[in-house]
Amino acid sequence: MYRCPTCGGLLEVAHDIEALRDRSAAAWIRLFDERYRVTQWPYGSGVWGKREWVMPSLSDDLIVSMYEGGTNLFWADRYGKQLGVPETWVKLCGNSHSGSFKDLGMTVLVSVVRQAITQGLKVKAIACASTGDTSAALAAYGAAAGLPVVVLLPRGKISTAQLVQPLAHGALVLGLDTDFDGCMAIVQRLAEEGIVYLANSMNPLRIEGQKTVAVEIVQQFDWQVPDWVVLPSGNLGNAYALYSGFKLMKELGLIDRYPRLAVAQAENANPLYRAWSAGKKTVEPITAQQTLATAIQIGNPVSAPRALRALEELNGVVEQASEQELCNAAARADRTGMYTCPHTAVGLAVLEKLVDNGTIKSTDRVVCVSTANGLKFTEFKVAFHEGKVPGVDTNQSNPPVMLPADYGQVVDAITARL
Ligand SMILES: *Cc1c(COP(=O)(O)O)cnc(C)c1O
Repeated sequence: MYRCPTCGGLLEVAHDIEALRDRSAAAWIRLFDERYRVTQWPYGSGVWGKREWVMPSLSDDLIVSMYEGGTNLFWADRYGKQLGVPETWVKLCGNSHSGSFKDLGMTVLVSVVRQAITQGLKVKAIACASTGDTSAALAAYGAAAGLPVVVLLPRGKISTAQLVQPLAHGALVLGLDTDFDGCMAIVQRLAEEGIVYLANSMNPLRIEGQKTVAVEIVQQFDWQVPDWVVLPSGNLGNAYALYSGFKLMKELGLIDRYPRLAVAQAENANPLYRAWSAGKKTVEPITAQQTLATAIQIGNPVSAPRALRALEELNGVVEQASEQELCNAAARADRTGMYTCPHTAVGLAVLEKLVDNGTIKSTDRVVCVSTANGLKFTEFKVAFHEGKVPGVDTNQSNPPVMLPADYGQVVDAITARL
């Protein structure tokens, strides 16, 4: 069951807050710090180091973990100085087993399925619709647990690396002639009819794992809350997950205030931005247009209602970035040593716009969540540096200089550039 039979809304995990209050805020902090990135199974995982807040009843031997989480909170020193916001940080969630933050949720989901199977649940396969990263994570964790996986992908709309990941892990990969929203409609029906177990973020188990990123960010700042979190978003599950993490920390006294949330959307796939800027309380589905930020090319976000709630609670804003803006932001960031995926670039472009219009102040401490590893998006990088992104001015591109093996010409090329 993935939806409330009465109202049709998505289900949520409710933790027993009173029971969790048995430990003081200081004691939680000590426990989480003791476990952070240790070798002892399964606590080195950023998710399972906080297991009491995630899935308290799961036994160690059923956990399927690849030591997800514990990713670098990168101080974007040079980029931030150029931007005029010295406290700019990038949470590198893509430095993870399958190269995106999706690992944080998938470890929980696949572990719980494994537990359910030992208790007699019949699962033919775990399945998801995906814009490329959910399928990669599901296929990896499924393979680690020895469970069959089916992934539905929009044909031609994901990167080569993302397509190869589930193939390598032995999943059944179905490339459908539709977009993500079309894949989602079909996988929901497969789940409703009991043919597969659903691994999309409609499933609250994913949110439980993903919310640990909020705790981890605060932990990495020695339990200080940043002023802003900027989050590239599509289906909007992660926006809600982030809020859930902050909410739990506040309820248990680990923090006394919230950061503000900036949800970043691609202009070509911006249903939340449209609703937000029109002051509407519901998000109308649209047909998402093509964007370089393929993982957020989603027109009918399944978690829209709860993302609106998160925005309200976190005094949030929604901003969008065009293809040109995301390309420029990626190029600027890469020139300071980052290697940004196009979604992270949407986040950075939105950060730049919010600084320009005065919403984010130069003294603010800002975290932009980097959702995936840039190495998964080689096509994006190559097209940019070859100057071949349609409709985008790529004057910041840096194409290679091809030369014969001739010493003089090499010296000339160096002299010409420097
Ligand atoms: C899944 C994904 C997102 C969007 O997350 P939602 O929870 O769908 O909003 C953003 N960036 C990348 C790289 C992703 O894989």
